[in-house]
Amino acid sequence: MAIEGKVIIIMGASSGIGEATARILAEKGAKLVLAARREDRLKEIKESLPEAHIVYRKADVANHEEVQQVIDLAIAEYGQLDVLFNNAGIMPTAPLAETRRDEWKNMLDINVMGVLNGIAAALPKMVEQKSGHIISTDSVAGHVVYPHSAVYCGTKFAVRAIMEGLRQEQRENNIKSTIISPGAVLTELYTTINDKEASVALHQAQSEWGLAAEDIAQAVAYVIDTPDRVSVSDMIIRPTAQE
Ligand code: NDP
Repeated sequence: MAIEGKVIIIMGASSGIGEATARILAEKGAKLVLAARREDRLKEIKESLPEAHIVYRKADVANHEEVQQVIDLAIAEYGQLDVLFNNAGIMPTAPLAETRRDEWKNMLDINVMGVLNGIAAALPKMVEQKSGHIISTDSVAGHVVYPHSAVYCGTKFAVRAIMEGLRQEQRENNIKSTIISPGAVLTELYTTINDKEASVALHQAQSEWGLAAEDIAQAVAYVIDTPDRVSVSDMIIRPTAQE
C-alpha cells in the first residue's frame, strides 16, 4: 500500500517537522491523526487542509493514558493503524553542572517515555494486524555527544536503542521500526531552551544553514512509501554545511 489511504498518527504535529510531515502526507492522501499539547495549532492545520482526512486530539506524550486515547481515536475513526510517528521532543540544553533537574526530567519524560508510551499503545493493534510501522524522530545527537547537550543526547541515544530493540523483537510480526536522525532544522525547537543565550545561538545557526522542516518530512514520506520487504532502520539527514 502506498501512502494514500494509510492511517498515520503523528505525535508532536503542531509545529516544525511534525506539521510539515502532516502537510505532505495529507497531500498524498493519508488518513491522519494529529496530536500535541497545543490543540489550537492542530485545529489550524486541519482547517487549512479542508480536503484532507484529519482528526486531531490534544495529548501530552508523557501521559500514557492520553497517548492511548490518540491510538484509540485512530482505530475508532479509521479501523486500522498503519504508522505511528513518534516525533514529539524538547531540547532544553545546559551544562550538567547547572543541575537543572526539572529540565532533565522533562526531557526524559517527553523524549524517551513519550516514545515508549507510543510503542506501548500502538503495538497491540499492530501485532494483531501483523503489520505496522513505528517511526521515531531521533537526531544526529543520538549518534554524537555535544557539550551542554549531554541529557538531550542521552535521550536520543536511548530512542535509538529502543527502536533497534523494537526492530529485532517485531520483525517477525511484519512491523517496521525506523529512526529519522536530523541535523539542525529550522523549527520552534530553540524555544524549548530556557537559557536565553543558547536559544538565540541555536536559532541563528538554524536560520543561517539549517534544513527546512519539509526536508525531513520528505524523508518520513519516503520511508512510509517503501514496500513491505524494505525496512529503513536509520536515516541521518544533515544540512550540507553541518560539521
Ligand atoms: P518543534 O518545537 O517545532 O516541534 C516539537 C513538537 O513536539 C511540537 O509539535 C510540540 O507540540 C511537540 N511536543 C513537545 N512536547 C510535547 C509533549 N509533552 N506532548 C506532545 N507533544 C509535544 O521542533 P522540531 O520540529 O524540531 O522537533 C521535532 C523532533 O525533531 C523532536 O523530537 C526533536 O528532538 C527532533 N529534532 C529536531 C532537530 C532540529 O534541529 N529542529 C534536530 C534533530 C532532531 P506542543 O508543544 O503543541 O505539545
